[in-house]
Amino acid sequence: VSQPKTQEPQTPERPPDTGDSTYQVVIVRYGTRDTLKSEVYLNFQLYDEPDEPVRLDYFLWIVRNQHRALVVDTGFSRAAGRRRDRTLLVDPPEVFTAFGVEPAAAPTVLLTHAHYDHIGNLSFFADSAIVMSGTEVDFWTGPVARRAQFRYTVEDAEIAELTAARDRGRVREFSGTATVAPGIEMIEFGGHTPGLSVVRVQTSDGPVLLASDAIHYYEEYERDMPFSIVADLRRMYLGFDRVRAMVAAGSIRHIVCGHDRETLAQFTPLQDAPSGYADLAVSIGAAT
Ligand SMILES: [Zn+2]
Repeated sequence: VSQPKTQEPQTPERPPDTGDSTYQVVIVRYGTRDTLKSEVYLNFQLYDEPDEPVRLDYFLWIVRNQHRALVVDTGFSRAAGRRRDRTLLVDPPEVFTAFGVEPAAAPTVLLTHAHYDHIGNLSFFADSAIVMSGTEVDFWTGPVARRAQFRYTVEDAEIAELTAARDRGRVREFSGTATVAPGIEMIEFGGHTPGLSVVRVQTSDGPVLLASDAIHYYEEYERDMPFSIVADLRRMYLGFDRVRAMVAAGSIRHIVCGHDRETLAQFTPLQDAPSGYADLAVSIGAAT
């Protein structure tokens, strides 16, 4: 039986082409705080188990290959972190500089949602294009976001910055799914915020889901326990289901949670980490 011929070029000497569409994901822990399960899980008393301390870590995600580097979220600002009593381990702009992600190169910035710990430091990338769900942009620049239960999760000055960026045409708003670059997809989930999005990245170690705050903690996902800050509970649950379906279908191999202290232990210490980052940075996939 003859197989249909593929169009592969027959040049065995050529190194395997990992191509333009395979990346290394770098995860850097830049901040932390200690809290309680009763603070992070919605209606924790429902589970009828003792409360206990839980650490909430803050991460930056850099997606890079030899063609480009992209930034997924920009962390909290030093000022907002201080006001909210968060521990800053390394100021995000310092992290970006240490990893060679320079504002002058205007890396594309993907914003999963507008909470203060995800869009602080946006001004560091003043010339970058921003990709964000249109629903998310509309919500946070609209009137309901001014109400107390939403407003405390953002910084007014940062929303103003986002608004200014949008007015200058720097924000690429999408709905549903957006292919940001070959091998990088942004997918709108909602739930935690109206337009919360996740990012799927192809790596040499398989597809990675940067879940951001669709999944703060592995326990949240594994035990089906919604987070306490929620815009749409139904969509938050459906987000968990959607991730499970993606895992079952093989379209995700690794899940990177938004705030879990176990994250660094799950992945590979970064080869050639910049000085001072050996204990803070891990990677998924080979550098290409
Ligand atoms: Zn959040």
